[in-house]
Amino acid sequence: MAEQFLAIVDADKIHDYVFSPHELRLVRGGSVLQSTLNEEVVPGLATDYTGHLVYAGGGTTLVSFAGEEAVRDFCAAAEACYADRTVIGTATSAWIEVGAREFAETRDRLFGLLERRKNARNAHERPDGSPFSERCGACGQYPAAVRDPEPERAWRICLACVQRLSCSDRFTLLPAGRKPAKDLTEVGSRSQPAGYIATVYIDLDRAGAFLRDYATTIKAYGELSCRMRDSVKNAIHAGLEQAVPTGSDRVVGYEVFLLGGDDAVVALPANRLFAFLEKFQGTYHKVWRDGPHPSFSAGAVLTQAHTPIAAMLRQAEDLLRSAKRIPKTELAGRDSGKDAVDYCISAGTESDDVLAERAEVRKRGSERPRTMKPYTIAEAAALARGVSGLRQMDAPANKIRSLFDVAYQPLPQADLEYLFVLSRLESGPRVALRKLVEGPEMRLKAWRPVRAGAEEATNLADIAELWEFCR
Ligand SMILES: [Zn+2]
Repeated sequence: MAEQFLAIVDADKIHDYVFSPHELRLVRGGSVLQSTLNEEVVPGLATDYTGHLVYAGGGTTLVSFAGEEAVRDFCAAAEACYADRTVIGTATSAWIEVGAREFAETRDRLFGLLERRKNARNAHERPDGSPFSERCGACGQYPAAVRDPEPERAWRICLACVQRLSCSDRFTLLPAGRKPAKDLTEVGSRSQPAGYIATVYIDLDRAGAFLRDYATTIKAYGELSCRMRDSVKNAIHAGLEQAVPTGSDRVVGYEVFLLGGDDAVVALPANRLFAFLEKFQGTYHKVWRDGPHPSFSAGAVLTQAHTPIAAMLRQAEDLLRSAKRIPKTELAGRDSGKDAVDYCISAGTESDDVLAERAEVRKRGSERPRTMKPYTIAEAAALARGVSGLRQMDAPANKIRSLFDVAYQPLPQADLEYLFVLSRLESGPRVALRKLVEGPEMRLKAWRPVRAGAEEATNLADIAELWEFCR
């Protein structure tokens, strides 16, 4: 095959673009617009310009070409297409002559070029209108241009939101034959306690490094990245459908905000979070059988369904970063015991900085963490099951809830109060709680490492916090 040139087109700042409007209909529209550009429009352009599609997903399109003129024209057309369709969104492209180089070197150079072009673009972003002009009612960011076509909305919206709106009734991110929930309140209404949703950001660990190690030819690169994209997509759909079964009306009880490439952002009833993560984990690894593949991490925020979408996403991003701090094995994906999650139950206000709060608690609390988070998926699921078990044994709610305060006492006081709570429980719940708190060694102490090699921490507050969500 005459693959003399390799081109990459990569959408810039997808999260900023997708999550800047407050309303779900526009977030949906923006997300669908991005995935349509990425997976349909730009691959279509590649064919028009006689290219050969290698991969498309997660905002990235990789195409090989035989001639220099074709690759150059394709890149210009693809960038123009993004700018035209999204009005404010951009994509950056780069291309390279393959020549006699090894694929690894070609790819590194191409990605390096792309990075430099992205940085150059970020350096002079366009200003967004005069401070005196009327702002878009939907995103608040760009000058308003036209009336919102929805009859019940009196404001005017920007041209970018008009484009989002034009895609808002397409639902390509859901499994085939499924209809979207009306809004996030409807998703939250399926939760116990009612009104809470979990917004989850899942991302494969070091996917780039995995491809660098295992994709040694252009063909292998295409195959592995497609497999990665499809394994995430299938596992997201399977996990959501299993955790939140769809009824005969085919209306789903969850939301898929973003899906493609090696990551996804979804929302589901808060109490179904751990069921979802376990099913995702099982389905995802099964696709790869024994072959090497990346592990994954998740950041999840449990909030009331009316919390601003952008605030939930920002917290989920922080928690994802925290989950990724669990040490991963060098053997990519062969140890699913390293899949991790960090989560929080949040009031969802803009100023919440969960990780900074934890660091402060730790600093003031004799450097002893008052949470065992982040957990591996297995640890988190076991904890959730343990808390459900306590409920089924009719453990008294006020005693379990009091563990939250116990966790924040000075160390000797906390140990003492933990013993006091135990003394007030009947033997069934007492043994069950001790197993959860003390682990297999049962040393009658509230502090222990969550797993070999981890520092001493306590899950007392984690248990109290999950009480409402694990029935
Ligand atoms: Zn707007």
